[in-house]
Amino acid sequence: MDNKTINISQEQIEQQYAFMRLVKERNNVFYAENGRLPRVHVLTFGCQQNEADSEYLAGMSVEMGYEKTENAEDADLIVVNTCAVREHAELRALSITGQFKHLKKANKNLKIGICGCMVTQEHRKDDIKNKYPYVDFLFGTNMLWKFPEILNESFDRKKRLFYFDHESSNIWEGLPVKRESDFKAWISVMYGCNNFCSYCVVPYVRGRERSRQPSEIISQIKDLAKKGYKEFTLLGQNVNSYGKDLNTDYDFSDLLTDICKIEGDFWVRFMTSHPKDASKKLIDTMAREEKIVKHLHLPFQAGNDRVLKVMNRKYDSKGYFELVSYAKEKIHNVGLTSDVIVGFPTETDEEFEDTLEMLRKVEFDSVYSFIYSPRKDTPAAAMEGQIPDEVKKKRFTKLLEVQNGITKDLNSEYVGKTIKILVEGKSKSDTDKYTGRNEKNRIVHIDGDDSVIGKFVHVRIDKADTFAMYGTVIN
Ligand code: SAH
Ligand code: SF4
Repeated sequence: MDNKTINISQEQIEQQYAFMRLVKERNNVFYAENGRLPRVHVLTFGCQQNEADSEYLAGMSVEMGYEKTENAEDADLIVVNTCAVREHAELRALSITGQFKHLKKANKNLKIGICGCMVTQEHRKDDIKNKYPYVDFLFGTNMLWKFPEILNESFDRKKRLFYFDHESSNIWEGLPVKRESDFKAWISVMYGCNNFCSYCVVPYVRGRERSRQPSEIISQIKDLAKKGYKEFTLLGQNVNSYGKDLNTDYDFSDLLTDICKIEGDFWVRFMTSHPKDASKKLIDTMAREEKIVKHLHLPFQAGNDRVLKVMNRKYDSKGYFELVSYAKEKIHNVGLTSDVIVGFPTETDEEFEDTLEMLRKVEFDSVYSFIYSPRKDTPAAAMEGQIPDEVKKKRFTKLLEVQNGITKDLNSEYVGKTIKILVEGKSKSDTDKYTGRNEKNRIVHIDGDDSVIGKFVHVRIDKADTFAMYGTVIN
């Protein structure tokens, strides 16, 4: 399929601002009639990239005169931003969309839109088209920047709209954003993926790799750092191929180095690194730059070389281990995390043992483990040798058991030590406590008050278990 990158021009973005003004005029009338602003509910499934996209959906909505609500029941506009990486995420999005039917009955003016990776697949688009007639509009990941136009048209034409473009990938700048946090920010540095791992749907629904201009990224971060932001997480499906499409020598390490020159007291995180592209230069940059957190998320997916080959990952377990060893040698006390898939088609019990072996050898701080989920039209879904559910579950349980033991041991090494954390807010599990994360993204609960939210504090660790640590703030 021909899939070129299209730069959305400033003029096209201006047009979207014009559509935002049109919707706002409509919403001014709504305000005059109802004595309140119309409300938008943005519901997000999936990864950080989707969370970042949703902040733009919210930003555009606010610009159009909506106020945000956390309750779908109160909303006049609902936008569901969906995920397709595993079936579970799709089923949840479909089930919740099903529940919105009665809201539409209660509020005739309610608009419902669905976007993101799930509906960018033809068969899911058709599902919604045919089985959820009360959904007003659908748009693909590539059409996010056209949201104001789509919404405006939906008001005008009173018919269902379907906005998709599978032939190109695009990149845009300058849309309004409403960030969830006033001290942590997602910064997409690139979009899409060219890797076509055989199990993964992302390249089909997110288009080809394309990078934002370094100057755009840097000025965005400068602006946020001036406002006091304390953490920037740079996002891309494979950040280590950042810049390849810009036709310069400038790479991801260069971008990190330039970001670290920006004035301010902040942490820089990034994800995700692909082991086939993560370079020694990247690790040297992490070791050198104080602002970059000492945490590397490096998914290895499977420990067996045959499985890696069928997954189309383009590295082997030896190469992976060498890279990790280099990181451990160069970066003092580096935190390592990974993604792992269990039950990939044809994976045998012995081959799964190689995955466990990798966990034991590397000693990751934590691991995100996933039961293989067949994704329509990916090569792995059509393979013979799909693994029965009970075997997958057994392997999954075993993997958790091994990794939880490692995580607990690593956490307990912190007891008595003092570490720096960024406090994120009140603890969800214990409302008397506040929660933050250290450089390695480990959760730390502390006593405190609202004044610590959004601040770096030093904490002495008193207690640790598998999922969190508990500490006391010291001056
Ligand atoms: N670009 C990132 C990951 C994106 S998807 C990377 O390459 O690391 C996030 C994780 O979901 C993947 O790392 C993988 O572990 C998991 N995943 C992707 N497709 C999956 C599938 N079909 N079944 C189970 N897990 C999957
Ligand atoms: Fe999916 Fe592989 Fe691309 Fe990650 S690198 S998004 S796993 S295809």
